[in-house]
Amino acid sequence: MSARILNGNEIRDQIKSEVSAELKQLQESGIRPGLAVILVGNNPASEIYTRNKVKSCESLGIYSERLILPETTKTEELLIRVEELNRREEIDGILVQLPLPSQVDSKRVLLAVDPQKDVDGFHPVNLGNLLSQRPGLVPCTPAGILEILKRSGIPIEGQRAVVIGRSDIVGKPVALLLMHHNATVTICHSRTRDLPAVCREGDILVAALGKAGMVTAQYVKPGATVIDVGISQLTQLADVERFFSGNAKRMEEFEKKGATLIGDVDPASVMPVAGAITPVPGGVGPLTIAMLMVNTVRAARLRRAAYPAPVPS
Ligand code: NAD
Repeated sequence: MSARILNGNEIRDQIKSEVSAELKQLQESGIRPGLAVILVGNNPASEIYTRNKVKSCESLGIYSERLILPETTKTEELLIRVEELNRREEIDGILVQLPLPSQVDSKRVLLAVDPQKDVDGFHPVNLGNLLSQRPGLVPCTPAGILEILKRSGIPIEGQRAVVIGRSDIVGKPVALLLMHHNATVTICHSRTRDLPAVCREGDILVAALGKAGMVTAQYVKPGATVIDVGISQLTQLADVERFFSGNAKRMEEFEKKGATLIGDVDPASVMPVAGAITPVPGGVGPLTIAMLMVNTVRAARLRRAAYPAPVPS
């Protein structure tokens, strides 16, 4: 038996066509949601992520702009830029791409984003809204994971869910969302004792630890749904051979590009045990961008609901 593959690209396309229909409706009311993405410095991965986010907006007809600031940008300068965007009427969403250079106080910058425009859902106000189940903006990757589960017909209510990772942007919010959907949730982290045994209790296992291919069959309950959030690059032939030796496509990709992607899960080991699994690439990743589009449209709606246009005197 081999696990069912949960195809993130297909789910992303479904969501994007729903967003597109909603955008048409908004356009009829004269509203065009707008997203501003701030990129500081020259991190190559961030450069690709931000370009893809803007491209995805353009493909749907969301207004978007990318503000690129030098590696040497100071916290104060960034705060001024964020404030400008907070004030601009045509901007509904502001995304500050992480990680920021080390001289920047990231927490201060994230706190400066107007919570109503915080499409990443990282502001404490939005995290508080999530905790207390109030309407707000939910972090994109955790929201995307829930979409994968729901749209693939994976039951959540009453199930045991185990989340590996307790970060503010993935582990904690996904655990809250699973709990709000009535799963019984365990959060594991780097100090968890006998991690494989705890993970084997999960009907749903979410791996968000950022350790290439660490989750093997011994972590997985037979038939469980495995959601692989991690993204790591393998650049050494020995590593690629360890994970993908029988996989001609991957070996070829590595030969051509000198690198290949892997998640936190060792797919060859886990596939025969799991009931369903998200691949890397093509699993959780595509959903993260799709949910950013959803959040931008949501922010446009929420902001207008909270601040109705002034009645002309
Ligand atoms: P993080 O480094 O902030 O957090 C990692 C968490 O994993 C920590 O809570 C830590 O306690 C735990 N951990 C680390 N090593 C562990 C171990 N050996 N055993 C058990 N727990 C361990 O990372 P993050 O920002 O939450 O991201 C996690 C991974 O997800 C990264 O690979 C990141 O690139 C990826 N990611 C992917 C997407 C996407 O769109 N697919 C989005 C965000 C993050």
